[in-house]
Amino acid sequence: MSFVKRPGAVASWYLPGILSGLGLTIKGMFQNLLGIKPMPTLNYPEERYEYGPRFKGNHILTVRKDGSIRCTACMLCATNCPADCITITAAEHEDPKVEKYPISYNIDVLRCVFCGFCEEACPVDAIRMGPEWMTPGMADSQFDYDITQLAYRANLKGGVSSRVDDEERDRAGI
Ligand code: SF4
Ligand code: SF4
Repeated sequence: MSFVKRPGAVASWYLPGILSGLGLTIKGMFQNLLGIKPMPTLNYPEERYEYGPRFKGNHILTVRKDGSIRCTACMLCATNCPADCITITAAEHEDPKVEKYPISYNIDVLRCVFCGFCEEACPVDAIRMGPEWMTPGMADSQFDYDITQLAYRANLKGGVSSRVDDEERDRAGI
């Protein structure tokens, strides 16, 4: 048999804890106001935080050397996505060396939890989490990213190359 330990009379009275918390807040406020210990704040949007290279921001679909989409529509990213926010429609590629490609690839960014599982699951470096993190928009539809947004948005300047290039791999006989 297990017993739940009941809090003592003083511990069950919340006023000391509330006063102690308020004291800390007021102390921090005066330290900040008097410049003794300024709070680490940024004057956004004039000042912006620089995230590290491993930061997992907005998704990028990488491209091949000819600019076409690198994704082979293998569905591993969609299968591993815990938020179920990736939707891919696959089609046969006209190049017999390429089995499939996505005719549509969508990410519902409002459902995404930016966990990076899609990036880790991809066998051909076709999807990455990039450094961009600002996703302003007024309508739901603006957060349903399609191939144009994911691979060819203006910030990507024509597309980001995949580290896995099948032609080079074929030439090297790997
Ligand atoms: S970052 Fe996570 S939640 Fe977002 S699309 Fe990738 S796997 Fe899904
Ligand atoms: S992005 Fe990568 S894991 Fe996802 S379908 Fe394309 S090739 Fe497969």
